[in-house]
Amino acid sequence: MAIATNFGFPRIGTQRELKKAVEAYWKQKLSAEELSQTCRELRLRHWKLQQASGIEQIPSNDFSLYDQVLDMTAMLGAVPARYDWSGETVDLDTYFAMARGRAGKKGESDVAAMEMTKWFDTNYHYIVPELTADQKFRLASRKAIDEFTEAKEAGMVTRPVLIGPITYLLLSKCEGDAFDRFRLLERMLPVYEELLQDLAAVGAQWVQIDEPALVLDLDEKTLAAFAPTYQRLKEASPSLSLLVATYFGDLRENLETACQLPVDGLHVDLVHGLGQLEAVLKAFPTTKHLSLGVVDGRNIWKTDLGGALGLIREAEQARGSERLMIGPSCSLLHSPIDLDLEVDLDPEIQTWLAFAKQKLQEISTLTQAINGNEESVRLVLEENLEAIRARKISERVHQPHVKYRLEAITSEMSHRQSPFTERALVQRQAIKLPVLPTTTIGSFPQTKDLRKVRADYKAGRIDEATYDSFIKQQIDDTIRFQEEVGLDVLVHGEAERNDMVEYFGEQLDGFTFTKNGWVQSYGSRCVKPPIIFGDVSRPKAMTVDWINYAQSKTSKPVKGMLTGPVTILQWSFVRNDQPRSVTCRQIALAIRDEVVDLEKAGVQMIQIDEAALREGLPLRRRDWEIYLTWAVDCFRLTASRVKDQTQIHTHMCYSEFNDIIPSISDMDADVISIESSRSKMELLKAFEAFQYPNEIGPGVYDIHSPRIPSEEEMAELLRSACKVLPPERVWVNPDCGLKTRGWPEVKESLKNMIGAAQALRKELTTV
Ligand code: GLN
Ligand code: ZN
Repeated sequence: MAIATNFGFPRIGTQRELKKAVEAYWKQKLSAEELSQTCRELRLRHWKLQQASGIEQIPSNDFSLYDQVLDMTAMLGAVPARYDWSGETVDLDTYFAMARGRAGKKGESDVAAMEMTKWFDTNYHYIVPELTADQKFRLASRKAIDEFTEAKEAGMVTRPVLIGPITYLLLSKCEGDAFDRFRLLERMLPVYEELLQDLAAVGAQWVQIDEPALVLDLDEKTLAAFAPTYQRLKEASPSLSLLVATYFGDLRENLETACQLPVDGLHVDLVHGLGQLEAVLKAFPTTKHLSLGVVDGRNIWKTDLGGALGLIREAEQARGSERLMIGPSCSLLHSPIDLDLEVDLDPEIQTWLAFAKQKLQEISTLTQAINGNEESVRLVLEENLEAIRARKISERVHQPHVKYRLEAITSEMSHRQSPFTERALVQRQAIKLPVLPTTTIGSFPQTKDLRKVRADYKAGRIDEATYDSFIKQQIDDTIRFQEEVGLDVLVHGEAERNDMVEYFGEQLDGFTFTKNGWVQSYGSRCVKPPIIFGDVSRPKAMTVDWINYAQSKTSKPVKGMLTGPVTILQWSFVRNDQPRSVTCRQIALAIRDEVVDLEKAGVQMIQIDEAALREGLPLRRRDWEIYLTWAVDCFRLTASRVKDQTQIHTHMCYSEFNDIIPSISDMDADVISIESSRSKMELLKAFEAFQYPNEIGPGVYDIHSPRIPSEEEMAELLRSACKVLPPERVWVNPDCGLKTRGWPEVKESLKNMIGAAQALRKELTTV
């Protein structure tokens, strides 16, 4: 009989109980005991829900107060030295200090948090382990064991989840990379062995070990580390069944290694690695358990159960239904919890969706169907078939006018009239700017008041006229401040925007929004991504009025401010019935119209933010080219309809450009602003080496902290920028938008930034 299983459940709670409890604990409004009570309740609720849904192998230790990788760090006792840890068990405050940093005691400086980075190609962020050459490990947290016992006491034998040793090591930051990280395995494995033995001792039968690294490009050495590692783990706990879980893609050249691991089961992702089933069936021994990830753990669409059954049947035919498991593609951590709570959602669209809770039911239905109970789930299967069919032909989804426009795209549409060198001359004539022109990235501080007014407006508590005049007031103040401080290119400040993607999604056709569709982004932070359900188009101009208003208040140029198509795509739940590139092109056409309207309204500079362009990169190098080609093309399609004298800006808030700089250059933006203050302009070397041809604003003001950078400090950064780039192509700006900062620091910092630009201009003329 096939077994229904799951790989992880969202821990945040339908009412974001975990977020609220953790944040209250941080503010000392909740005791550790109260916090742990909330956590126990959430875990129990989620286990019971899975049980009631028919899931037979339910995960435990998928719960986390902050992050599952940080939990593994605690279990391994790999607490970096700066946290002054006792070396016993990792206590709550040490745990949160690693996640968030610790304020220094009197006279001492603050202790920095550990770094955070994206978990594979999801929008979840994990805490990056920091390991040293002489790193010691010891079992310093019994979380996995305790949570197993907790579930057992509630009558459920769960399958504890651990992050596998190879994935853990690969994701770690190893002190200057100066040593071979795999040398640490020898010291790390005894902790895993002890953990497994302890889990066996309390009654665990299966343990799930996540090795998503198996879907990455791995070198020989890494691949070679798998077999001996798992040999040891297996020998340490012969009575335990080990299930190695891979997800987020296909195994490709790692397939042999994965299939030959000396473990008891393997989980493969058949959603993001759809094509790999046949090869897996060939290579994986029929004596072991094969888990089929057929329900997308990362998206919100109902599974095509008929299609999924087809895949499972293929596996059944090849190896029988003994030792088959049926589950989601990956942990459900990445999907919202419960569709039933979305009472305001359009009823038609609602029938196309499945959140975590509904996905559990899909898994259960599939398992019953395979196990010969097809009759009992016939109705569910029929309903599913109907929903899938209805979505395929729905007029809500398919807009002939959008498809027509898409087909009419020609390659000229992605080219500006003239090459950059010519445009630059025209632009210099049209817009008089000093050398090293100063500007900002778009948003200004979003105060409590501002957020409240926006929320009141959205909830219908204040009328449009009141709202408009409030926003206008904000724009007035922001423009006045920018003039006073002496910025050269102004912005309207984005006071009307809650979020750079949501704001546009709400005004575009083809998007919808949930009330409770929260997904954990990092720690206690959750996001509610828009859902792109249909062909995208723009019913009317979205930003023109506000920019016009701002421009009417000043004689200096005001930049129009838009979010680019790739970023909108990347931060939304995307349709799965057509390639991402097609959806992106539809968004590109919509934003292109907005660009044209802004130009028509007399806006001379338009910034199209592509904050998420880099994070869209596929996990495998071999797939980069295809992605970069369409992503860059979509940007160009958005930006190219304007006259030569209209200056197109783009902004990207990261600093790793080395490997994608040809594509960045290919975007052909007249001006690009990037994050660079934290890396001390280090990244500019990539721009220099590549001879990046257009204008660049390397951020000189780190907006991630309230710290006010001094004039001298920023002047020094500019000096180093001007050494590697021709000064006539350098702009002066912060690293990113200022919306998370407070007004007083922003005022001070920008004053210093302008002082720095003036100082540099002087130096340049005296040379
Ligand atoms: N224009 C946006 C802002 O300033 C850009 C934000 C971003 O890149 N994340 O807020
Ligand atoms: Zn940014």
